[in-house]
Parts: sequence; structure tokens; C-alpha cells
Amino acid sequence: MEKLTKLKRRYGFKVVVGGPGVWQLKGLEEKFGIDVLFDGEAELTFPLIVKVLSGEDVPKYVKGDVVPVDEVPPIVTPSRNGVVQITRGCPRGCQFCSPTMFFFRSIPLDVVLREIELNLKAGVKAVGYATEDVLLYGARDLDFNPEAVMKLFILKDSQGC
Ligand code: SF4
Repeated sequence: MEKLTKLKRRYGFKVVVGGPGVWQLKGLEEKFGIDVLFDGEAELTFPLIVKVLSGEDVPKYVKGDVVPVDEVPPIVTPSRNGVVQITRGCPRGCQFCSPTMFFFRSIPLDVVLREIELNLKAGVKAVGYATEDVLLYGARDLDFNPEAVMKLFILKDSQGC
């Protein structure tokens, strides 16, 4: 952050920080030259505040709305290390976790397949699944769905990755 602050002084860009642990930076915005702390999911809310990059004023702390599973956009370019998101959020509800995590969704199998294919076509040799817990795939809250998990791995096998 010190390096970033120096670069910001030199080039005058905006600094937007997001991610599950972002609340830990509350109160340190001035010290680290942070323009916006973005807490939550980006797809629906970030477009509303992206004007900060062209110098317009936006709130210093923004909560990103939870995105319904059918509005989570599939990737359109290969992902780093071929990683494909299969779930978002977590239903376990640990007290110390960010509440933005608590809305659990499983990405539909056809979207997972499309993302795997996209990565493989781009030359990725092995695909990994991104999730808080792979065994929760297809679960309703903590009601596990072994069949959905099996399908997920059969899918991976069928693609040879
Ligand atoms: S298990 Fe789920 S709720 Fe608990 S800390 Fe991990 S992600 Fe958060």
C-alpha cells in the first residue's frame, strides 16, 4: 500500500479496493490513499460507481448487491490457471465471516461446462473449480446434494481435465 500511495501521488489515479476482507481497511482510507472501499459483489453495483475513475464523486464506502445466479456473467476470456467458479457465497454463516458471503448460489452446470470449454480451447491443460467448499455444489443451505457433486466431477472427467 505504501508503494501504491507513492505511485498515486505521482500519477494521480484512483484507488478502489474490493474483496471479502475489505472491511478491515475501514478508517485507513486516508493513510493508504483509498478513494473507494467496495464491499460485496461487483456485477450489479460496480457499474454504478465506475464513474469514480473519470474523477466523479462517489461514496467512499459502497456495498455491492448480491447478484442472482442467472445474472452472474460467464467468463468470456480464459481464466488464470483455468479456474472456473462453481459456487458463490457460503451457507455456513460463521460469525467472523463477511455477511456478503452468506447468500449461497451454485453456478448451473451448463455455464460451468461452457467456461471449461473456453479455457480448454485457449490451451489451458487443467481446469480447477473455485468454491468455498466443493461438496456444497448444488446444496440447498446445508442440505448436501451428492448427485450434483458427482455430475460436476463427471463433467470434468468428460472434458479430460
Ligand atoms: S465456512 Fe463459509 S461462512 Fe464460514 S468463514 Fe468460511 S466462507 Fe465464511
